[in-house]
Amino acid sequence: MQTTPTGYQFEEQAHCDMCGRETSNAKVLGHRASKTTGYFPRRARGVIIPVLQCNHCGLVYCDPLPLPLDIGQHYNVEPADYWPETLNYFKENPTYFDYENSVAKRLLNFQDGMKSLDIGSGIGKALVSMRRAGFEPYGIEPSEKFRKFCVEKNQIPESCLQAASVETAQYPDGFFDFITFGAVLEHVYHPAQCLSIALKWLRPGGILHAEVPSPHWLVARLINLFYRLQGTTFVTNVSPMHVPYHLYEFTVPSFQEFAARSGCEIAHHEFFVCAQYHIPKFLQGLTAKIMKRTNTGMQLSVFMRKSG
Ligand SMILES: [Zn+2]
Repeated sequence: MQTTPTGYQFEEQAHCDMCGRETSNAKVLGHRASKTTGYFPRRARGVIIPVLQCNHCGLVYCDPLPLPLDIGQHYNVEPADYWPETLNYFKENPTYFDYENSVAKRLLNFQDGMKSLDIGSGIGKALVSMRRAGFEPYGIEPSEKFRKFCVEKNQIPESCLQAASVETAQYPDGFFDFITFGAVLEHVYHPAQCLSIALKWLRPGGILHAEVPSPHWLVARLINLFYRLQGTTFVTNVSPMHVPYHLYEFTVPSFQEFAARSGCEIAHHEFFVCAQYHIPKFLQGLTAKIMKRTNTGMQLSVFMRKSG
C-alpha cells in the first residue's frame, strides 16, 4: 500500500461477500491503481489495491475496500457529468430494458399491475420501460440530482421514487413482484447484504434480477494478457477509486451460493456481449460472435426466484 489519498478509508475484507468463504481462500488476480492505468500500467501512480478472486465461487473483489469518507464524492455529480457523451446514455432508447421485462413477465406468469422496483433508478430509463410493460413501477435513487432529473423528465410520481440507498429505503415485506438491480451491485460495499434486503421486499415466488459485470469478459482477459506481457501484475478487473467505481465482478456460482443460503434459486441467467471497448471496429463482428458462443460477454444477467 502506498500513500492514502485524501477522502478514503480502507476496510479489510474478511470473507467473500457472496459465498462467505474466508479471504484466505482467494487468489490474488492482480493489482489495480487508484487512477486509470491506460495501456501501459507501469506508469500508474497512487494507491495500488490487490484484486482477489474467490477460489470457491469466482467472485472478483478488491481487498481492502476503498470507502469514500463522503459518499457525495461518488454520487453528488450531475447526471451529464457521470456518463460521458460517448456512451449515449441520455439518448432515447425505445427498447431499453424491454428484454429483461419480458423474461421477468414470463417467469412471473405476469398479470397487469404487478409491482416492480428498480434499485438505483438513475435517470429513470428502466422505470419508464417497466411502466410500458404493464408493471406499477417504483424506484430508489440515492442521488438527489438524478432523482430530480428522473421525476421531471419521465413524469414518475415523486411518491414512487425514494431518495435513498438500498440500505436506508423502507418498504413493507413482500410488497414487490419483481425487483431489479441494474448496474448497482458492482458499486456497493456488500452486495449480498443489498440482495438480502431486496429479498425481504419481494413476495414469495417473486423475481429478483441483477445485471453485473462478468470476470470472464473476453476484452478484459486480452488486456490482462497484454499487461502480463509487459511484465506487470496489473489487471483491468474492477476500478475501485475512479469512474465507474466498480468493486466487484460476479459469476453464476456467486449467485448460486447466495441463493442457496438465502431462500431463492436461479430461474434464468445469460451473458450479454454489450460494449467492445478497445476492440478495433473491423473485428467487432467476429469478437461479438466469439463472446456470445463462449459466454465471455461483458455482462451477466441473473434472475432469481424467491422460495415459498
Ligand atoms: Zn466466493
